[in-house]
Amino acid sequence: MKTMNCKQLGGACDKEFHANTFEEIAELSKAHGVEMFQKQDKDHLEAMNRIQELMKKPEAMTEWFESKKKEFEVLAED
Ligand SMILES: [Zn+2]
Repeated sequence: MKTMNCKQLGGACDKEFHANTFEEIAELSKAHGVEMFQKQDKDHLEAMNRIQELMKKPEAMTEWFESKKKEFEVLAED
């Protein structure tokens, strides 16, 4: 298992996610984002706005996603 926190995944807090694949950790982070969105957490809403800006440019989004994926891949196993 590898660990990345919310901030490392484009979020706003130090909550840690543990997963074997980047796809898995991205799902966990997304679910957490939805939860924070429902709570209307200000920091997470701002972080989501930044990601949404990025999503307007598909290449920028892909680049961001790939760079996060690489970051995950070079992490040491827990
Ligand atoms: Zn968070």
